[in-house]
Amino acid sequence: MAIPDGVKGAPDWLPPAAGRFDAVETAFLTTARLAGYERVRTPVFEHTEVFLRSVGESTDIVQKEMYTFRDKGDRSLTLRPEGTAGIVRAALQAGVPRTGGLPVKWSYAGEFFRHERPQAGRQRQFNQVGVEALGSDDPVLDAEVVLAGWEALRRAGLRAVTLLVNNLGDREDRADYLDRLNRYLDGVEALPPEADERRRLNPLRAFDAKAPGMAAIMAGAPLLPDHVSPAAKEHVETVLRLLDAEGVPYTVAPRLVRGLDYYTRTTFEFQAGGLGAQNAVGGGGRYDGLAEDLGWPERFPGVGWALGVDRTLLALRDAGEPSAARVAAFVVATDAELTGRAFALASALRRAGVATDLAFGGRSLKAQLKAADRSGATWALLLGPSEAERGVVTVKELRTGDQREVPAAGVVAELAGA
Ligand code: AMP
Repeated sequence: MAIPDGVKGAPDWLPPAAGRFDAVETAFLTTARLAGYERVRTPVFEHTEVFLRSVGESTDIVQKEMYTFRDKGDRSLTLRPEGTAGIVRAALQAGVPRTGGLPVKWSYAGEFFRHERPQAGRQRQFNQVGVEALGSDDPVLDAEVVLAGWEALRRAGLRAVTLLVNNLGDREDRADYLDRLNRYLDGVEALPPEADERRRLNPLRAFDAKAPGMAAIMAGAPLLPDHVSPAAKEHVETVLRLLDAEGVPYTVAPRLVRGLDYYTRTTFEFQAGGLGAQNAVGGGGRYDGLAEDLGWPERFPGVGWALGVDRTLLALRDAGEPSAARVAAFVVATDAELTGRAFALASALRRAGVATDLAFGGRSLKAQLKAADRSGATWALLLGPSEAERGVVTVKELRTGDQREVPAAGVVAELAGA
């Protein structure tokens, strides 16, 4: 009988790649923690409505990519395609807008699901780390969020990152501009039908329509940042001044709309070279109307980003950094009689905080030493009959081959303190 395949577009992460995956996720989360963002966890599924109301009916995500199903209670549920909607839903449900002490600053990490055509950098299950700052209009918060994203990618080891920033203004001020854009699109001869369909749902979606010829068409379109209110203009200018002061290079990108309907004012994307079409490693922005879209009676602004772990790893792949050592010590028993002692020594080292492994299956000395090398350990600890008799352990530095004897009673303390 054939072994069932894993689901298409849902990758398995195995060692050593899974270790690099953790390192990237940790780098992102650490950066968030250093800026005062506290970890939250929300479910991987939500009522479908949460995404319909927030991500927006005009988006590719809602139109084509959601994993939506009915549960046994006939409720429509959807595997989360992104993080912000669920986090804001959780904040509202917990009454956060009325608890004082705003903004709250939260971070998250986990699996997300979109039914896309799998290709390099585009999967059906992928991982994001995100931050959301909720309950403040302060542009300093936007600058903090953008800077944290920039720093997070650097901490993960990514150097060649391009930051694009746009100003999408406030939704209540958009009507005029959208009329203008529609008039422009009405005047385009042979607007691709797919693009026409998209703009009927939301004219801004014409900017990310992929149909051939669209880039040239949109090159002549009126630009939203030229039509935002003075307050929105001032807001994003403040953000850019703060980024300038921090020496963060960015490119103003007046056609950047990103594939979600909820963005307002500051909207940004991080791109990495070498990834071809899927070059966005992360992005985000302000979403001042999202809470109201979800049914909250008052304004409850927010700003955040999501960085893709999988795509960052892909961008790092060419850097070819060495894989991390699996353990620090590897215990080798040269005689089957000594297996019990080897096991005890490995256990004691682990309790003392030294990552340790040993060989299994009664392997030859040669095979055990090979396993020790492969583990990436700094030390092989050799236990043979002569060592056992004299109450010592031979500590071999695997990089240099140097070895010395250490009293068995002191070896754990010595390696734990090294
Ligand atoms: P978005 O939520 O669309 O703004 O995406 C934020 C980041 O998540 C992107 O820049 C990617 O790094 C990552 N991402 C989004 N969709 C996928 C996918 N289908 N496969 C892999 N990574 C993804």
